[in-house]
Amino acid sequence: MPHEIKELNEECGLFGVWGDPNAVPITHLGLHTLQHRGQEGAGIVGLTRTGLRRHYGLGLLSEVFAKPADLAEIAGNAALGHVRYATAGGRLLENIQPLLFRFSTEAMALAHNGNLTNALTLRRQLEDTGAIFHTTSDTEVLMHLLRRSPQPGFIGQLKEALNQVHGGFAFLLLTETGLYAAVDPNGFRPLVLGRLPDGGVVICSETAALDAVGAKFVRDIEPGELVSVTAAGVHTEQYTTHTQLSVCAMEFIYFARPDSQIHGVNVHQARVAMGRRLAQEQPADADIVVGVPNSSLSAAMGYARESGIPYDLGLVKSQYVARTFIQPTQALRELAVKRKLSAVRAVVEGKSIALIDDSIVRGTTSMQLVKLLRAAGAKAVHLRIASPPLRFPCFYGIDIQSTHELMAANHSVAEMRAMLGVDSLGFLSTQALEESIDLDPSAPHHGLCTAYFTGDYPTPLYDYAATLHKELAQLTMNVSEVSA
Ligand code: SF4
Repeated sequence: MPHEIKELNEECGLFGVWGDPNAVPITHLGLHTLQHRGQEGAGIVGLTRTGLRRHYGLGLLSEVFAKPADLAEIAGNAALGHVRYATAGGRLLENIQPLLFRFSTEAMALAHNGNLTNALTLRRQLEDTGAIFHTTSDTEVLMHLLRRSPQPGFIGQLKEALNQVHGGFAFLLLTETGLYAAVDPNGFRPLVLGRLPDGGVVICSETAALDAVGAKFVRDIEPGELVSVTAAGVHTEQYTTHTQLSVCAMEFIYFARPDSQIHGVNVHQARVAMGRRLAQEQPADADIVVGVPNSSLSAAMGYARESGIPYDLGLVKSQYVARTFIQPTQALRELAVKRKLSAVRAVVEGKSIALIDDSIVRGTTSMQLVKLLRAAGAKAVHLRIASPPLRFPCFYGIDIQSTHELMAANHSVAEMRAMLGVDSLGFLSTQALEESIDLDPSAPHHGLCTAYFTGDYPTPLYDYAATLHKELAQLTMNVSEVSA
């Protein structure tokens, strides 16, 4: 998947099934479709005849579930699955989700996508009153809050716990009597509800995973919503009404699959619209438009359509490169790019190229791509980025929590142009990004979180407020600068 190249990683993909005898294989199939959201670990908990059982491990789904018995031993009528990229908590086996908790009377499995902004404070408070944690993951905090809640009944306890955690989260919880789903009050991370042909219910991170298992899309789960799926059917309620839709813009720019719909907007079409606006805002004197495979191809199509410059296949991606973990050194990262992408000399030689990429994080990938194109004879490279410069850290579930790692936070666009070795460099404006996706024109930022670009965080940052304050004090950038 392209996500290893970008050096930008999201935490997780979630997939849960209730009420189907093939719940475990369906979950396995669904997780394959969500593998781009996390490649460092995977797990499935199945509701078997003897209760909840888990199979999990580090690595890709195909590595963790290497033999049929891995699925057969957890088979049952309900399942909860997870693919993980580690951020808060690090890469430890005990942090691989779903987390499975066994109590004297029952068992529960919990999976999470996102990042809690007050998990450290809550954990400290819980530990001070005797709680013992088994993982370093922020996810475990929710279970402690749930079990300690004095509210009568499971749903009351869950609602109280959900009101105590803050940040970006989509939770799925499986018990022996139900599957429960909750989304944070801003809906940073997507979660959707679907129906299997035989009546079973699916809840998962992206609609593409519903399609993969033959489930029908029912609806998006809304900010602040708690959905319960039990023998009594599907029940929904708000655990809070203090909500404001702010879907992570990076879902549209980069993370989500092009065949997914988020709150009614198709990801591919949103990217095409971004490419069109980019062509209007940042025209280029080029012979051909080339997109960086795969996540930038939709935007490149939009750029070509709007500018009238023909699209061509100047870069190809190797389909069968063995997985590389996040590369620890710059030199290794550069080699990884070379193994995955190559330039088509017959297409690019002697041409002036409008190279379309979806974003620039550290700049490593872009630098390598430009070198590849020049080595293949490109006459000029005009780099156009279908999102605004990434200048601020994310605390809602993307693994960039420091401005040190972000090229655009530390350099002007003119400096970036020189460092990347391109003839010109242009980014999409934040306004054009918001209008291209256009989730909800009446909401702030059109229903998106654009904090990565603007520093305008839609929630208080709790444990991260001091970090951000320190980071911002060092920033000298003009945040509205988008071209050079
Ligand atoms: S800060 Fe950026 S990456 Fe994080 S949720 Fe907002 S848009 Fe997404």
